[in-house]
Amino acid sequence: MATKVAIVTGGNKGIGLAIVRALCKQFQGDVYLTARDIGRGQEAVKSLASEGLKPMFHQLDINDLNSIMAAASYFKEKYGGVDVLVNNAGIAFKVADESPFAVQAEVTLKTNFFATRDMLTHFLPIIKAGGRVVNISSFVGVRTLNHCSPALQQRFRSEDITEDELVGLMEQFVDKTNVGEHKAAGWPETAYGVSKTGLTTLSMILARRLSKDRPNDGILLNACCPGWVRTDMAGPKATKSPDEGAVTPVYLALLPPGATEPHGKFVSDKEVQQW
Ligand code: NDP
Repeated sequence: MATKVAIVTGGNKGIGLAIVRALCKQFQGDVYLTARDIGRGQEAVKSLASEGLKPMFHQLDINDLNSIMAAASYFKEKYGGVDVLVNNAGIAFKVADESPFAVQAEVTLKTNFFATRDMLTHFLPIIKAGGRVVNISSFVGVRTLNHCSPALQQRFRSEDITEDELVGLMEQFVDKTNVGEHKAAGWPETAYGVSKTGLTTLSMILARRLSKDRPNDGILLNACCPGWVRTDMAGPKATKSPDEGAVTPVYLALLPPGATEPHGKFVSDKEVQQW
């Protein structure tokens, strides 16, 4: 049987590194730690090797379409596709950051929404039957959804929102921040939150599409929240260790063969959450 393969984006530190660690222990196959920076990625591989684990490495900058396409070709060629994909890479401006809100909106959505979408565009076609796709979103995306205008909330929760419509809404948010009109248009004042509302909604759209287009392939795709985790992003006061933050993402990545749910859900502490 072909060797199975799991890939984690942003695997060089934080929750991504902890997900790679857990997959090395629990996944029957090759586990790829990917990172945008080769040096940081290889350092992280070395640190796991010192724990007796053997992750493999591939460069992957989700903001670089060429890097995404090169990685997708590599996995297609070497493994015939991908069994587990964890889209973990993400960014957040610090609360104290004084960059204009419009800049924060553009930069945050670029990575957390648009680049993660590029990953899904290029990797979903090579996810193998029985594959698992996990998008690391956040509870902040739920809170942000609840602070959107009723009209926006209705669209994000609807079953008939298309990927194009969602992309249009995310672009609209960025455009409106440029002219200071995002609040009037029904958006809350959080770029990170909107990026994660978008990512969770995208996960639901793509899960519905998988069910329709590949009904017999048994692929499960979900968004999740790792919890509040002590990383460079969230700081030392957060309640969970990175290994604890990896628990729900890894649970979704390793849903057993034949499982039919969860699929197209937002999951936290291994439980499906209301959207
Ligand atoms: P960290 O800042 O510790 O790690 C982020 C990782 O993403 C780093 O490896 C970083 O690489 C990588 N990354 C950023 N941009 C890119 C890119 N363009 N291409 C590839 N990799 C990239 O954050 P966390 O570990 O805390 O966050 C991981 C995920 O969990 C994020 O999606 C975050 O939004 C989410 N999350 C985190 C929570 C928390 O409490 N920590 C709560 C809820 C969600 P580099 O080192 O090169 O910058």
